[in-house]
Amino acid sequence: ADNTYDYPLRPDLMDWSSYYPAYFEKTASSANEAGESLAGTGTDQDTKMGNGEQSTNSDHQEPSAGEFADRNMKVEIADVGCGYGGLMISLAPLFPNSLILGLEIRGKVQTYVAERIRALRNQAAAGGNKQGYQNVAVMRFNAMKFSPRIFAHAQLSKMFFLFPDPHFKRRKHRSRIISPTLLAEYAYFLRIGGLLYHATDVKELHEWMVAKCDAHPLFEKVSDEEMAADPCVNLVLTTTEEGKKVERNGGEKWVAVWRRIADEELG
Ligand code: SAM
Repeated sequence: ADNTYDYPLRPDLMDWSSYYPAYFEKTASSANEAGESLAGTGTDQDTKMGNGEQSTNSDHQEPSAGEFADRNMKVEIADVGCGYGGLMISLAPLFPNSLILGLEIRGKVQTYVAERIRALRNQAAAGGNKQGYQNVAVMRFNAMKFSPRIFAHAQLSKMFFLFPDPHFKRRKHRSRIISPTLLAEYAYFLRIGGLLYHATDVKELHEWMVAKCDAHPLFEKVSDEEMAADPCVNLVLTTTEEGKKVERNGGEKWVAVWRRIADEELG
């Protein structure tokens, strides 16, 4: 049920310390792990998952809590419906100074990705790179419902929607993760100049996503030249587990990128 997820009532109440332990010091309430977190909702231990906290049995030096803390740090890059996390893991070293968050609704998949990140962090730390993969985390989360509780206005510089569930039937179209209503939310979270990426192997879905983004007054299409120069475009198509599957099956893939423009540019 939704009420077992770990999210606060408002973004400023979010305690990120279990997700990015190297970057956030524990708050009083997270340090007091009695179960009463700022999340305010369920705190079921099975579903309340950070990435780093439980890794106490390693024999190498891990960063101490908040070692790289900077009070101005915010999640900047969101992979919505991140699945098994391939994109985030390829982005982590590319954007070492940005916090990257994957949102995934399936508990088992989220647990797998959290483990994967923990292993990468441990491996990096063992090799002397204490900051390696500390900037990436995954949250079990229904992104279609609760994103305004964790992302504030103009907080994000990039949002990824890669190989989303197609919801083929017409009456299921409102379940699509790119829709006119949700695009208004995404425009709110993205800063001016921020980018929204979508990719799919379903042509009809691609055309739908392009049409919806095109119709939205706060997004403009990024040109082919600019896309060709953006390293993320290639990663979007090649690093996610779904993208790799399409590749193996010899399927076609489509991608588009949209820039969040300023409200004044309306007209
Ligand atoms: N982006 C990944 C990739 O390219 O490999 C996963 C693609 S998979 C087809 C779609 C993912 O979105 C699934 O893992 C699904 O559980 C997740 N998902 C669907 N609806 C969601 C929602 N409302 N919030 C968060 N994740 C969601």
